[in-house]
Parts: sequence; structure tokens; C-alpha cells
Amino acid sequence: MKPQVIIIGRPNVGKSTLFNRLVGKKLALVDDQPGVTRDRRMGDADIAGMAFTIVDTAGWEDDDPETLPGRMRKQTEVSLEGADAALFVIDARAGLTPLDEEIGRWLRGQSVPVVLVANKAEGRAGEGGVLESYSLGLGEPIAISAEHGEGVADLFGALWPIIGAKAEAAETAAEFALSEGEEAPLGPLKLAIVGRPNAGKSTLINRLLGEDRLLTGPEAGITRDSIAVDWQWTDPKSGDVRDVRLIDTAGMRKKRNVVEKLEKLSVADARRAVDFAEVVVLLLDATQGLEHQDLKIADMVLQEGRALMVAINKWDVAEDPSKLFNGIRHALDEGLAQVRGLPLFAVSAKTGKGLDDLLRAAFELRESWSKRVPTAALNRWFDDALEANPPPAPGGKRIKLRYITQAGNRPPRFVVFGTRLDMLPKSYERYLVNGIRKNLGFDAVPVRVVLKSPK
Ligand code: GDP
Ligand code: GDP
Repeated sequence: MKPQVIIIGRPNVGKSTLFNRLVGKKLALVDDQPGVTRDRRMGDADIAGMAFTIVDTAGWEDDDPETLPGRMRKQTEVSLEGADAALFVIDARAGLTPLDEEIGRWLRGQSVPVVLVANKAEGRAGEGGVLESYSLGLGEPIAISAEHGEGVADLFGALWPIIGAKAEAAETAAEFALSEGEEAPLGPLKLAIVGRPNAGKSTLINRLLGEDRLLTGPEAGITRDSIAVDWQWTDPKSGDVRDVRLIDTAGMRKKRNVVEKLEKLSVADARRAVDFAEVVVLLLDATQGLEHQDLKIADMVLQEGRALMVAINKWDVAEDPSKLFNGIRHALDEGLAQVRGLPLFAVSAKTGKGLDDLLRAAFELRESWSKRVPTAALNRWFDDALEANPPPAPGGKRIKLRYITQAGNRPPRFVVFGTRLDMLPKSYERYLVNGIRKNLGFDAVPVRVVLKSPK
């Protein structure tokens, strides 16, 4: 069950406006039976991934302070029963009225946690009202402008400690229900193999698919179209049979026979491969080592947000293998600063060495590339990261980073909310990106972080 947040306040303070702001376009009139619940509006609200049900009490209130206590008491059961938090809205421009004080007193006697919201605080017009509202004894007022969408980040900050855990649990439960309902949520692994000519791509593909089958035409278990070859890989360790779709970008360019189509996937084709692939394997030639061109392909794959791994082929004829491996490891870490510790494999398309490990790792890499971190865990890490290394204070004014949310996956994307973000040094952004990668299980995956100042 999602947490429920109720909006309370005298008429005209902006309750409906706030309600509409929080539910976005998904405005819902859930319950319009006559009687007590008439005009009760409930909606699905979402602030930065924290989902909750919002209840608007506009229309319950009464202009006449004389009748308010009675009406409020009458509404108590409906309104606060089941509510996890109350947003008590005042009009910062108008300042406190006796009715606000009455409602404030009443709320102080209730058990529900109250967040005091000073609305209409855009510009400086509300400053007096914000200060005045401290006198309600309901803690620090959150200055917002429901109409202009300002202060929503602070509202998140105030609500998170109260309802964050419950929102999180509801999210996890919903995801669990979803993943249980779906048999294979990710579908076949969409895999592309790229690399310079002669690296051994066609040999590798033939080895994976089974050379004979490919050369002698369509067989059961392999279907081909101009974009991909579908087949099944059996993991010899677990016995699991898994679907793989090998991306054939050369085939998109020209109609040629299947062997040829899959064969000459070279540099320019890598660009097309990434449109269709989830995981891209950059194939190197052990007798050639890593060259600038390889780094360029790798960089492009990462720029496009694909999961990248590197395989050194022709390991059967490699000279001084361990030196070669370490040299390439080092060159990759140096040359591709955006991703440390790319999965690196030694393989032989000729003998088949290392290919099962390569595929197993490709499936694993796709898992992290597709992963979502719950907002609570993310912000726990975020708070620790900020504490361990606080953002700088250029000119004596501290840059405020407020919270983080995962905006998407495949590839993972994150949004950091805060203020004065234009002053945040690139090195600090890198600190955050590296932290996400190391601590939240996104090693070797291109991670994007966008900075946003909520208005
Ligand atoms: P309710 O009666 O508490 O539900 O209040 P409404 O949401 O109907 O808003 C009352 C009036 O205040 C409307 O004219 C709104 O346009 C205005 N209003 C709401 N929020 C803001 C705000 O943040 N700033 C300003 N200046 N006006 C607002
Ligand atoms: P492509 O241009 O990347 O498709 O490369 P090919 O698959 O045509 O391979 C180029 C050459 O490398 C061929 O002569 C292959 O026989 C050879 N080759 C490919 N893989 C291996 C391997 O694992 N070991 C050895 N020794 N030779 C390989």
C-alpha cells in the first residue's frame, strides 16, 4: 500500500493547486458519493520517484471559524484515518489568520505527522508569512509556490523521512508482483560483436552458432532476418538454455548471403550495431594488441549508452599472454575514463576457449545495465557520499545537493537535484558517477548523471 498524504488548510490557500501540481496530469476524482466523502479527491502523486496517494480536502473546510472545530472533528475519521502525513497549507502572502491558528492547534493534537507548507511563496512576497508561521509550533515551514512549482524539492525532503520507507516498500512490492508475473522480462540478449577487420568476428560468430549449421543454411533453432540471428546458448555450468539475438549490422547495409553478412562487421558498422544491441563485444586480435581505432569504437559504444565488454581473440597464438592481458587492461582503464574495469576476456574463436565465460558475463552485464535502484537505497548512499566528501563552497557559498533519483535504466540514468549546480566542478560529478558505479552495482556500465535545479 502506498503512503497517503492529506492536504489540509483553510479555503483559498492553494490546496487544489498543490494537489494538481503533485498529481501532474493524472488528476483523479476517485470518490464522489454524496455525504462525508463528497468532494474527496484522491490522486496518484509522485515526487522524484517517491509515489504516494494524495488526498485533497478542499471543500470540507468552512469559512466560519465558529463551526470549524465541529466540522473538523466530523471529518477526522475520514481524513486522518489511514493518513501517513498531513500537509498543512497556509497562504504566506496573506500571513496567518485566526482560522489557520485554529487548524494548527487542532492538528497539534492529532497523531499524524504534520508538514507545514507556506504556499504562494514565489518571489519575496511570502517572506513575512513564512517567518510568522513558525509561531504555529509545527516546526519549520516549507516555503513553496504550488502555482509555479517552486519548493517541491524541499517538500520531498520534508516528506521523505515520514513516508519514504513506506513508499519504498510499496514500490518494491509492486515491482516484485510485476517480475513474478513476467517469465522473461528481458527477452533474448541482444548482442553485437564489433572490431577491426581480421580480428576474428566471423570466425567467432561461426563458432558460436555452430559452423556447419551456418554454412549449410537454415536449421532448426536458428532464425535469421536482415537484422539478427536468433539462437540459443546452453550454459555448460548451469545447464540453462538462454536466448541470444546476434545483431547483424552488415546485413542491414547490403543484402548478401548470411555468412558474408555476418562476416565483415567492421568499424563503420559498429555504429549501426549499437542501435540494436544491448551488449556490445569489442573483439581484439591478440597478435595486434589494442590500437587507437579500438578505443574509438569502444568510446562510441559507451557514448551511445550500451554495455561494453572486450574480448582478446586468438589467445591460442598469443605471445607472453599475461603481459598482453595486463597491458590491455591498463590501456583500457586509461583510455576509457568513463568506465573502469570493463569486463575483459581472453578467448579463441578457433578453439572455443573462453566463449562460454564471455556469454555468461554478457548476460550479467545486461543485468546491471537494466537494473533499477530503489530510491531509498540510492539516497542512503547519496547522503553517505556527500558526508564523506561534501560538495565545495565556491565563493563561500555551499552548493546544495538535495537528493538523487534514478530516471531510467538501459542505460542507467540518474538525476541529482540541488541548487547552484552550475558551480559544481566536473571532478565532483565524476566522484558521484564513480560512487554510483562502485557502490550500487553498476561496475563497467555507462552511467549518466544529470544535474537539475528544481524551480
Ligand atoms: P484551495 O481553496 O485551498 O484549494 O485553493 P486553490 O488551489 O483553489 O487556490 C486559491 C487561489 O490561490 C487561486 O486563485 C490560485 O491560483 C492561487 N494560488 C495557488 N497557489 C498559488 C501560488 O503558489 N502562488 C500564488 N501567487 N497564487 C496561488
Ligand atoms: P573478421 O574480419 O573480424 O571477420 O575476421 P575473420 O573471422 O575473417 O578472421 C581473420 C583471420 O583470423 C582468419 O584467418 C581466421 O582464421 C583467424 N582467426 C580468427 N579467430 C582466430 C583464433 O581464435 N585463433 C587463431 N589462431 N586464428 C583466428
